[in-house]
Amino acid sequence: MQTKDNLFEYARKYIPGGVNSPVRSFQSIGIDPVFMHHGKGASITDERGRSYIDYCMSWGALIAGHADPAVTDNIIDAAQKGTSFGTATRKEVELARMIAEAVPSIDRVRLVNSGTEAVMSAVRLARGYTGRDKVVKFEGAYHGHADHLLGRAGSGAATFGVPDCAGVPEDFVKHTLVLPFNDPEKLEDAIKEHGDSLAAIVTEPVMANCGVIPPRDGFLQQMREAADRCGAVLIFDEVITGFRLSYGGAQQCYGVTPDITCLGKIIGGGMPVGAFGGRKEIMNHLAPDGDVYQAGTLSGNPVSVSAGIAILDKLEALRPYKQLRERTERLCRGLEKGAEQADLDVEVSRTGSMFSLFFTALPPVDYNGAQQQDTETFAHFFRAMLKQGIYMSPSAFETNFLSIAHEEKDVEKTVEGAMRAFELCSNTG
Ligand SMILES: *Cc1c(COP(=O)(O)O)cnc(C)c1O
Repeated sequence: MQTKDNLFEYARKYIPGGVNSPVRSFQSIGIDPVFMHHGKGASITDERGRSYIDYCMSWGALIAGHADPAVTDNIIDAAQKGTSFGTATRKEVELARMIAEAVPSIDRVRLVNSGTEAVMSAVRLARGYTGRDKVVKFEGAYHGHADHLLGRAGSGAATFGVPDCAGVPEDFVKHTLVLPFNDPEKLEDAIKEHGDSLAAIVTEPVMANCGVIPPRDGFLQQMREAADRCGAVLIFDEVITGFRLSYGGAQQCYGVTPDITCLGKIIGGGMPVGAFGGRKEIMNHLAPDGDVYQAGTLSGNPVSVSAGIAILDKLEALRPYKQLRERTERLCRGLEKGAEQADLDVEVSRTGSMFSLFFTALPPVDYNGAQQQDTETFAHFFRAMLKQGIYMSPSAFETNFLSIAHEEKDVEKTVEGAMRAFELCSNTG
């Protein structure tokens, strides 16, 4: 078996599609996926020894870069003392305290193993707490792969979801109401019509799973006010934005406090983790004190928790958010200039240290989930960047992330690479 040369072929023999998560397959990019071997700081190196400046950063999980020494040391130390006990440990309480002190909405927090679990459990808790079934979510948002959150909008104004995935019964999404993001009137109509039976409004405070789409002024406040008015629970899915936009997450930046917050990615320092937390009178409905069941064999395991403590310690001490934002702004200005020189319709959208490119003339804030991008030109751009040693997130609908490890010289190299890549796109387009 030529495992080195035909790694993708080898993978496809044993793993469906050759990957353990679909977007890794580069399906929309038109080339075989790159298999990574190791990473350090802002750089990743593939199986063939080629290095790249990484802007995927494990989908935003790595805010301190790859193999950060403090995180790595904590992981090794924890692993040597036992990877899981299935009992309570002191460290998980430590991480819970750090999260509760950092995030405005959180008094009490429960640790789980992924962002999917966090949102799934938060919605169950909201339903148990309110005694209601219906949930509002927004088009284009991703909340993990729980059945009832894999719905998309049906045709018509305020329709309930239709399954967006084979294997999800229609009955499972019939309580999920899918609305366009940044549309105050549709939200108002939905509350009027369904407010009495609404358990929760679930949202990414800044959309980051269909490119970066910031909320329009007042939209998050409107959600807060609408949830209060109808007695629903407001859930912020901060799996990406938590500890990324500020130490207190998007809710701190925008000054809107949800009832429940979901976390993941960064708080695991690159290890599997998730968390959901909120006010104690809501969280107390969870078992064993309450009647909403939720559990996990490896939840709060010492290795993930130790990685999380190391990264939060670092973020609390450094407060790197201003510097990250400014560096991202310089990068995005460079990208905009490059696209303009090549005469391409590209909108660069950014919030904090997250950015994405929209290969369309439409401003991102008007995105409603149905809008098409020129994915072919994006694929061309991605390939041209990859050839120059720059690894962008491999889909036009995914977000790119800067880490503390990205330096000014990385930004400069990326802007230069992008200028050439845009030129190439423009010449073939
Ligand atoms: C990544 C993500 C999830 C799912 O987290 P997993 O750890 O992949 O299960 C949920 N919500 C948002 C906003 C995410 O970005």
